[in-house]
Amino acid sequence: MISSEVAPGFLTVGQATARAVALRANERDRLGRTFLVFGPAGAGKGAFVEDLLALLLCTVNDRSARPCNTCAGCRTARSRTHPDLVVGSPEIWRDMRSTGESLVAAARRWLGGTAGAPIAGERRVVLIEGADRAGEQIQNALLKALEEPSDRHVFILVADEPNRLLDTVRSRCQPLRIGPVSRAELSAWLMDHELLPREQADALARLSDGFVGRALSLVRQRDRLEWRRRVQRELLDLLHSGRAARFASARELLDNAARSLPVAADAASPEPMPQDGQGPDGAETVRTPSSVQRAVATAIVEAWISLARDLMVANAGRADAAPTGELIPELPDVARRLDVRQVAGFIGLLEEIHGGLAQNASPRLALEVAMLAWPTISGT
Ligand SMILES: [Zn+2]
Repeated sequence: MISSEVAPGFLTVGQATARAVALRANERDRLGRTFLVFGPAGAGKGAFVEDLLALLLCTVNDRSARPCNTCAGCRTARSRTHPDLVVGSPEIWRDMRSTGESLVAAARRWLGGTAGAPIAGERRVVLIEGADRAGEQIQNALLKALEEPSDRHVFILVADEPNRLLDTVRSRCQPLRIGPVSRAELSAWLMDHELLPREQADALARLSDGFVGRALSLVRQRDRLEWRRRVQRELLDLLHSGRAARFASARELLDNAARSLPVAADAASPEPMPQDGQGPDGAETVRTPSSVQRAVATAIVEAWISLARDLMVANAGRADAAPTGELIPELPDVARRLDVRQVAGFIGLLEEIHGGLAQNASPRLALEVAMLAWPTISGT
């Protein structure tokens, strides 16, 4: 199991200053009461917070060896399942409101609940994400909690725009700024962690201006685009196929995508994708087999609609205005052999199916209906 061992220390790329401040405070056992991790969306705050949580909840005796990344403290900190970790955010407070309760009241109730003694270790860690999005009343309640003396509680506030925090809150925090990293550093990290070839890693590092979260979201976009191209290619081939091949393909598209596709993970998440970079284990996505299938079917139908629209555009002699054509060179030839009215009707059907998927239609059945209506080109 040597290959699966994780090296000790911070896993974040760059952020030398913030990292040094946190490690020094920890080694001297003089942790401030409150950290403020701040930086623009996409800077990689999520990954840094994960390191910080591991540092604070690691249990190896030698403080200078923390985070060890192998003890139960480190692992459950990174997966956010540690019993002494409490996580709050404006979204979480909104969701936990009971009937008739205001957001402010829910946040106050949550803050009250964080005051208890640690269960498993030396301290309790209270993480508040999107602290800058909390209103003034909530920030005042937070200030009260920060003012209560305790050496067994550490607060971590996370903010895109620290200027939106009250001065009184900000002045109590040890600031940890998360900024861009050098292109060379980011590129090396992308090759290491995302297994990208050097050229792609360099290009992404440049495009993302050194912001780790942005680079990771570009990687995900690229994976989605490649998947979309493969789906559209297969759908185009199916214009020549009979019913049995089409049904088999509908099944395979759903099964393969649900297993391997970044789209499945992204689209199945009830929340929009976080703007921030998440570490390898940072993202917690609620996935059920049926929600993944639905998400995948929806993504397939969307790729299909754009392919069908491009076929119509190409049929009208404007292949240069059909983005799919750049990826599939034979698109104009195929388009010429299609009945445009039939394709237009088919797009209408796909739009209905798209709506149906949002309202619990069976994903497999939906794709089979579309497969039957997808026009046929005879001969090759
Ligand atoms: Zn550890």
